[in-house]
Amino acid sequence: MAMTDLPPQARLKSDLMFNGLRYTPSLGAAAEHAFPNWSPYRFQPGEANPTGRPTAPLPYLLRLADGTTLRVRGSGKSAWSVDGDKDGGYHLRHDDGRALPVSFVPLPGWMRGATADGTPMAQCGVSMLGSMAVVNVAPGCQYFQADGPNGESRRCLFCTYGAPDMRSKTLGQDMDAVLLPAGTYAHMAETLDTALNEGGIRTVYLVGGSMTDWSREADRFIDLADKVRAVVGDRATISCGSGALPDDKLKDLHARGTVDNVCFNLEVWSEPLFAKVCPGKQAFVGHDRWIASLETAVGLWGRGRVYSAMVAGVELEPEVGLTWEQAAETALKGAEDLCSRGIIPVYSLYWPLGGKDHPDYLSNLMNLFETLNAGYAAIRRRHGLHIWDGFLTHQAAYMQLECDIDREVA
Ligand code: SF4
Repeated sequence: MAMTDLPPQARLKSDLMFNGLRYTPSLGAAAEHAFPNWSPYRFQPGEANPTGRPTAPLPYLLRLADGTTLRVRGSGKSAWSVDGDKDGGYHLRHDDGRALPVSFVPLPGWMRGATADGTPMAQCGVSMLGSMAVVNVAPGCQYFQADGPNGESRRCLFCTYGAPDMRSKTLGQDMDAVLLPAGTYAHMAETLDTALNEGGIRTVYLVGGSMTDWSREADRFIDLADKVRAVVGDRATISCGSGALPDDKLKDLHARGTVDNVCFNLEVWSEPLFAKVCPGKQAFVGHDRWIASLETAVGLWGRGRVYSAMVAGVELEPEVGLTWEQAAETALKGAEDLCSRGIIPVYSLYWPLGGKDHPDYLSNLMNLFETLNAGYAAIRRRHGLHIWDGFLTHQAAYMQLECDIDREVA
């Protein structure tokens, strides 16, 4: 099909991602059994509020009948709401009369469990997003500790999750060490095995904070991939979501046969934007070496197995200052370039840290996201590329549209 617009299900998902859901008691009840949302529902002044409290817990992921999955956003202005209950089923309703059966991704049983020595499995460096298990035993990122000569931070502009904090402490992460304590790996392995036995996991994604020495970061991930593959066997595919890695280490990782894909996140297209949005990656690896590493990976794993996560919308932050039209044009130029090298970008919707109170912000962000996704779908088709479900399935892509579009136009 000529892609001048989004196919219907992707358009519906985008509508729900941006416009969110109005609070109902059914939505509140779903939060009791669903995977919990880290961001609560915030009632606006004057909005009907059956809870009597300023905020209410929300479920994290809403799933449509065909498996399309998206993050729940609360909004008192939305024309969408949910009724029903867990036993009889939930329905998504629009004020115009549309009604669709939906469900909420449940909190897996293992996340309430504990390892044999009593450690809560929720604290063992494994989490689950739809059909994807994420393994992150070293969340602290050295870029948070490597300020530039004038005291400027080298963390990525959008990042709040890489700060060395209680999570890294609980996992025993020494910020200067490549490896974690043996007990951390043992807890991770026991938790991941339990999660795989419970079912529903199709892919495993290895992530972690970056190290300022990319060769040492490679050693950490090569070792982690060995350990995770030993647990997973052939029960799921595994992706290495490290930073870019030097060629000799990439060859070693590939030769071990432990990972099916790699994903080194460029985050944004063009060297000036990369330097501005990802100053640590620019300082310690560099834009050109990052792309060269992705190209080496294509030579090893092949086209369709090498990815780069991108943050669609960070370009609208005041520190970057692009219009949505400039951001879409730049991102599409990057998609064309990367696909021509056999590298597949995946665009996650970025929710702003600043600027979001501007009245036009959300409509600009939505214009960018939809224009980018419609244009990028055409680029993927032209290059004969699609998102492999051994990397990301539509049941895990809760902040992206590519998997939904590829399914609809296949
Ligand atoms: S590399 Fe960037 S995005 Fe990743 S943890 Fe470090 S600061 Fe955050």
